[in-house]
Amino acid sequence: MRVFAAGFQMETNTFSPWPTGLRGFEEGSLRRGGDALDGEGSDHMTARLWRDLCADDGHAFTPGLFAWAQPSGPIVQSVYEGLRDEILEHLKTKGPFDVALLFLHGAMVSTGCDDCEADLVRRARAIMGDKAVIGVELDPHCHLSQDLVDVADAVILMKHYPHDDNLERGRELYDLCMATALGRVRPTSSLFDCRMVGFYPTTREPMADLVERFKAAEREDGVLSVSFAHGFPWGDTPDTGSRVLVIADDNPSLASEMAERIGREVYDRRDALLPRFPALDLALDQLKGVSGLVVIADTADNAGGGAPGDNTSVLAALLERGIEKAALGAIWDPVAVAVCAEAGVGARLSLRLGGKSGPTSSDPLDVTATVRAVKADHTQTGLGGSTSDLGLSVWLEIGGVDVVVASIRTQVFSPDAFTGLGIDLSGKRVVAVKSSQHFQGGFAPIADTVIQVATRGAIQMDFAALPYLKKRDLNFHPRVADPLA
Ligand SMILES: [Zn+2]
Repeated sequence: MRVFAAGFQMETNTFSPWPTGLRGFEEGSLRRGGDALDGEGSDHMTARLWRDLCADDGHAFTPGLFAWAQPSGPIVQSVYEGLRDEILEHLKTKGPFDVALLFLHGAMVSTGCDDCEADLVRRARAIMGDKAVIGVELDPHCHLSQDLVDVADAVILMKHYPHDDNLERGRELYDLCMATALGRVRPTSSLFDCRMVGFYPTTREPMADLVERFKAAEREDGVLSVSFAHGFPWGDTPDTGSRVLVIADDNPSLASEMAERIGREVYDRRDALLPRFPALDLALDQLKGVSGLVVIADTADNAGGGAPGDNTSVLAALLERGIEKAALGAIWDPVAVAVCAEAGVGARLSLRLGGKSGPTSSDPLDVTATVRAVKADHTQTGLGGSTSDLGLSVWLEIGGVDVVVASIRTQVFSPDAFTGLGIDLSGKRVVAVKSSQHFQGGFAPIADTVIQVATRGAIQMDFAALPYLKKRDLNFHPRVADPLA
């Protein structure tokens, strides 16, 4: 068989003021053909997996474009269309293909389209025809639309948050698509709308238990796949929210019965699933009562959700309280980085740091900083062992806090975001990271206590108050207590 693969990912924060242009993808990842097999991101790791599986099974494998950008505002329409059409052009000119495997995010919005994934797959279908099999792997923070489910043969979402299971799910998608192409199964999909907007780390209850429930349901007769779309709360589209997707083997009624049954199991726990994080002052008060290393997460300024990454509130609070033996990262401020890199290691200078992107960034901080390290092309370990770039970065000592300032916007995934610059985390009292949940994989093993803080910023967790003014209807939990009634 002839198998095509491509990736196109951008989780769009429609509340972000910044458009995403081509530079966003160039700074993220933009690789084509064989070059796409060499990258270090999770999309490239998945491409290599699919290549290897095809090689083992004797199928011809053709990689197309793999494009990824850090979340920010809607993609400029011409940029979206240019990248989309490049994938479609490969399908036309390098095909025909029997199977297309697409590694998408699922919350991509351009300035002219609310559901870019369905748009892409619909156009791919028009080129490939009804007999070809199109499989899509998605991040659970997606707007999972009926349009996409209808036009693809199989959609499988990662089950874990942190997303450490992209390869496992990629293998399942490959197996399901091949079995479909060989006529061994016939996927029939059903979607259940839970009418919830939420945030569901799978590292704690009750979500961890629900993930086991989804996996158990997949072992039932006739069931091919069970996925839970967490949804991406910070995108205002008609399909924003949490949904359950079940794929059964040639059995639409089994798919719809199970999707509703599992969807209602999630729904019944909706209040317990709401994140209840302490506010910043309360979290810092808690430091007094605990010993060892405390990792605090600035959940609302997570670049991975489209936030600027330059909010200064946590740093300001640490400095005001005189907390020492602390580290904080990574503040996105390319101007400050350039100034400090120019001043060089050992320089002590007055600096206006962060707080520049808008009201959600808080205020810039005027500090006296000592430059302790400068590193070009600083990186950290990303999801699943991938590499995440921070670009030209500096270690600044400000009061008792070692601060990482980076020139590429990214959340913090791993301790090497600090240690790679020379910051020793052993003996630290507090490490503050800009991340909502993905930091857990790297930091939970070294932390005695982890506190996710309900900070103020661009991706706040007060879902009832999210400004859905355009597309998403307002009948959802927690805005409404019982929206399915
Ligand atoms: Zn995600």
